[in-house]
Amino acid sequence: MIRVTVWVEEQNVAKEAYGKGLAQYLAEALAVEDEVVCTAVYPEGGDMRLSEELLRNTDVLVWWAHCYHDQVPDSLALAIRQEVNAGMGAIFLHSAHPSKPFQALVGTGGALHWRESSDKELLWAVKPEHPILKGVANPLYLAEEETYFEPFDIPTPDELLQIGWFEGGEVFRSSVCYYRGKGRVFYFQPGHETFATYRNEEVLKLLKNAVKWAARRVEYQKPDSVWQEKRSTEIYF
Ligand code: ZN
Repeated sequence: MIRVTVWVEEQNVAKEAYGKGLAQYLAEALAVEDEVVCTAVYPEGGDMRLSEELLRNTDVLVWWAHCYHDQVPDSLALAIRQEVNAGMGAIFLHSAHPSKPFQALVGTGGALHWRESSDKELLWAVKPEHPILKGVANPLYLAEEETYFEPFDIPTPDELLQIGWFEGGEVFRSSVCYYRGKGRVFYFQPGHETFATYRNEEVLKLLKNAVKWAARRVEYQKPDSVWQEKRSTEIYF
């Protein structure tokens, strides 16, 4: 069983696109009978927390946030980093790119360029053999999405899975993976709150794959380069 916790900064986010709110929608959409069990979390009354007990009982944390990054306590971001190092998976969606937990995990600010739009987006697979892209259309077509574009202030990803192309001509590293300690981290760019992106069947397929990958439930060899780079320094000593 994979225990997924979906954290969305407020219940009213994306009400129009998802009815019950985004966390509740995603928790239901990602749950697969007994295999994946999801809990939706909305911080209450502006208290941007997540209980220690729930965090400890989470296999994969899904994080969507936009307006209240600053209100997330530093201690929570560090606790999330610690859990990932110990083996928890973390999936950051759309405007979670400058969130404190993402910054704590990748080590940079996560800033990017953006343009308010309802552009068409095509996500082209760079690594189609990756388990997160298994069975997912290539290119993955989205009729409407907010435009994010490079440069994106992230360290070179351990794996770049998809490049997003927008109809204004912009491009973006839309799906990226990092390995941190025993844990796995995935960032996925689509998911602006005014569009029903997470209702798209292909996106849902990708996110379900991402949950399994982040929970380390799929056979997958870490890319050698992540470790070879670290080992190669040893030859100098
Ligand atoms: Zn957005």
